[in-house]
Amino acid sequence: MPELPEVETIRRQLEPLVVGRRLGEAWAFPHPKFRPALDVGPALVERVGRRGKYLLVGLDDDRELVIHLGMTGSLRVRPSGDPGDAYVRAWWSLDVGPGGGGEALEYRDVRRFGRLAVASGGAYAGTLAVQGPDALDPSLTAEAFWRALRASRRAVKTQLLSQRPIAGVGNIYADEALWRVGLNPARRAVTRAQAAALLDALRAVMTASIRDRGTTLTSYRDVRGREGRNQQRLEVYGQAGLPCSRCGTELRSRVLDGRTTTWCPACQPR
Ligand SMILES: [Zn+2]
Repeated sequence: MPELPEVETIRRQLEPLVVGRRLGEAWAFPHPKFRPALDVGPALVERVGRRGKYLLVGLDDDRELVIHLGMTGSLRVRPSGDPGDAYVRAWWSLDVGPGGGGEALEYRDVRRFGRLAVASGGAYAGTLAVQGPDALDPSLTAEAFWRALRASRRAVKTQLLSQRPIAGVGNIYADEALWRVGLNPARRAVTRAQAAALLDALRAVMTASIRDRGTTLTSYRDVRGREGRNQQRLEVYGQAGLPCSRCGTELRSRVLDGRTTTWCPACQPR
């Protein structure tokens, strides 16, 4: 499922393709999750932002098109004559492109776990409204992150996945960062120093992944339809049964609060 690095990759690629262009005619797959596509436009795209795993397409009427990619959502800009396939869930026509022809911004989603919304004046709903600061927000300090973790007694990994202390972290980067700092995913209390190290590790693994255009396990593709390359860097996620690259101990996995979790029992003791 796309996490912060994958959504940021899409944001960076989409920005030069749509900013300054007008969204016009819209089409939506007839389902409440995608119907908000029809509430957009005609409007000029002023910016493409992101908070956590949400893309925020800022329009010139003080509204934002909010896109959550779910598990299999993807975006591309295609020539208007290209009808796409049966998994297109929404599109918006774009005014004349650099090549002179018409184009459209297309949202495709095979499994339909994604959703679209239109927010006015920063009035968000759902997880976006209650999530913590973005993991890459430079104003988020280690001290504030530690205090946010201390506010709950749930397992540290479960807290990361909740998006409450920090936004944008999913299963892949949580497992990778916890391994990096030697923290057991089920740990319920972390010290100030551990929280600081964990925040650094989260930022490091996600920044490295952005450089590689994200992690493709099955379906994630960037705006150009390419797979990411970060899957080659994974140390623990999806590697249960293989030796830990740091100590050689066999990596283990279990279900923690409903999510598969992989860790090194030697590097990440309880
Ligand atoms: Zn190890």
